[in-house]
Amino acid sequence: MSPPRGGPATGSGTTSPMTDRDGAPALLRRLLTEHALPQWRRYAVVVTLMAVVAGSTAASAYLLGNVINEAYVDRSFAGVVALAGVIVALFAAKGAANYGQAVMLARIGARIVARNQRAMFDQLLNEGLGFFATRHSAEFLARLSAGANSASFTINLLITAAGRDFLSVVGLVIVMVLKDPVLSLVSLIVMPPAVLVLRKLVRRMHAIALSQFTGGAQIMETLQETVQGIRIVKAFTLEERMRAKFDASVDIVERESVKMARVANRASPLMETLGGIAIALALIYGGYRVIIGGETPGAFFAFIAAFLLAYEPAKRLARLNIDLSANLVGVRLLFEIIDSVPSEPIEDGLTPLALTQARVEFSNVSFAYRPGEPVLKAMSFVAEPSRMTALVGQSGGGKSTVLNLILRFYDPQAGRIMIDGQDISALSRRSLRRQIAYVGQDIQLFAGSIRDNIAFGRPGASEAEVIAVARAAHAHDFISSFPKGYDSPVGEHGVQLSGGQRQRIAIACALIKNAPIILLDEATAALDSESERHVQEAIAELCKGRTTIVIAHRLSTIMHADRILVVEAGQIAESGRHEELLRRGGRYASFYRLQLQHDAGYPVPATAAG
Ligand code: ADP
Ligand code: MG
Repeated sequence: MSPPRGGPATGSGTTSPMTDRDGAPALLRRLLTEHALPQWRRYAVVVTLMAVVAGSTAASAYLLGNVINEAYVDRSFAGVVALAGVIVALFAAKGAANYGQAVMLARIGARIVARNQRAMFDQLLNEGLGFFATRHSAEFLARLSAGANSASFTINLLITAAGRDFLSVVGLVIVMVLKDPVLSLVSLIVMPPAVLVLRKLVRRMHAIALSQFTGGAQIMETLQETVQGIRIVKAFTLEERMRAKFDASVDIVERESVKMARVANRASPLMETLGGIAIALALIYGGYRVIIGGETPGAFFAFIAAFLLAYEPAKRLARLNIDLSANLVGVRLLFEIIDSVPSEPIEDGLTPLALTQARVEFSNVSFAYRPGEPVLKAMSFVAEPSRMTALVGQSGGGKSTVLNLILRFYDPQAGRIMIDGQDISALSRRSLRRQIAYVGQDIQLFAGSIRDNIAFGRPGASEAEVIAVARAAHAHDFISSFPKGYDSPVGEHGVQLSGGQRQRIAIACALIKNAPIILLDEATAALDSESERHVQEAIAELCKGRTTIVIAHRLSTIMHADRILVVEAGQIAESGRHEELLRRGGRYASFYRLQLQHDAGYPVPATAAG
């Protein structure tokens, strides 16, 4: 068995041990080397385009001074028109460069998102059942979306900050210094207090982003459970309960979003006030120089223009840390998935199964899903080739677990399971599973047509093969009666099909796989006698000449079995053929009586049936 990783499950289903707050530089470094570096050529183009944007912004501020002087000092209209033409050209260049860098960044970003989504999905496919058992599927959805996007978002944020905003500020500061060095110094004295305040806000942002994610995952969890279990929700009138659960998660996210907005924007009033002070100081000093000192107004105007243009990018740079730390939560979720060691690698490099007869043997197999809670206790039995072995017994006895172990969904803690004398724990899982056709108790149909769902058993199967197995599984008639026949779509859970119809499709799928070993977990769902007969005939077809282990609920199946094993508390309590066991009058006989009662649909007194 593969023990659940990531520490003990805490029940919320959305646990993530993310307490390492100081990892931000390490995360960024890794993000840049793993995701940005491979695309450095594209990023170089992006930064060049951003430099064009920054340069034309700075140049237009610079030229504004000349325009003012041409107009107010030299009074040359031709000069003004010429400069206006240059400014139009500058803005056009800026627009084109801006477009280019935005499109390019989006393209790189989309590629990073796609790469991460693939990597995360691959990781999931390499995990064993234990991994999934301890997590809610909604958590995967939340991680996949938050994780994949955050990486490209963070890199874009960094590149935009380093490229466009930083270069713009540098260019504009150069213009300011060129135009008036003293004035530049005066307006820069507001910088230090701004930096100090911003640094304080960053830590709080991180905590808020994390609880926002957790709340978001819970919203998805409740939504998914309600949608999937809508019949139960309605039949048991659980609407209020589900609403309360949903409300609670929505509340968290709502509260945290407001908190996030408040903290994130707390910098804003301060920055605006500081900006206002800087402008006021510049105006007073500059105005004094022009009015009293008799200087030309051009330099002063160019300075003010540069200052105002630098204000927005400078503000974004100041906030960079805040925005980064909100996004790094997602990046950490991404790395957590990508870094986890696969519990069940698809390519495990083990020896493939060499099948001869398909004889399955359990020898003293003990197994527990959780330590201290044994499910199978030194179980031994043999499923002979070309025979049907039926497992019967009370629910919870360990019957489905037997099938789980044969499929190597879990590995036993003691004892051996052998197929044709080979211990399966040393065999490649995929080679093993290729020789087994498994029909589970809950039949999961995938989104697509009925044909697709049957052909899952053997990809590339021809139309004739699909129809042949559907006929053998007694499914052809009802499939043909649908207006779209084999093209009929089945929904998320094949809602429009009855239980018996779904089972027959699953049997057709198992038939087309044509595997020498059949594992069948019979559904307990009461089928009407007509569909029971069809399902029974389909099962008989499926088991012909194959080693079959069936968890049998229906008497018709049990009575036809070559050997019946009564499973009780993880052990084989009795075994034999139907008549033999009945004559013995032991566990099976009383179990059989219960089955009769069940099939009759009302309790039959033990004396009456016995
Ligand atoms: P049966 O099929 O005979 O009804 P199972 O093999 O499904 O019984 O279950 C045997 C026991 O193992 C039950 O007590 C059940 O609660 C437990 N069990 C089954 N699956 C799991 C699992 N994935 N994790 C933990 N316990 C499990
Ligand atoms: Mg079961």
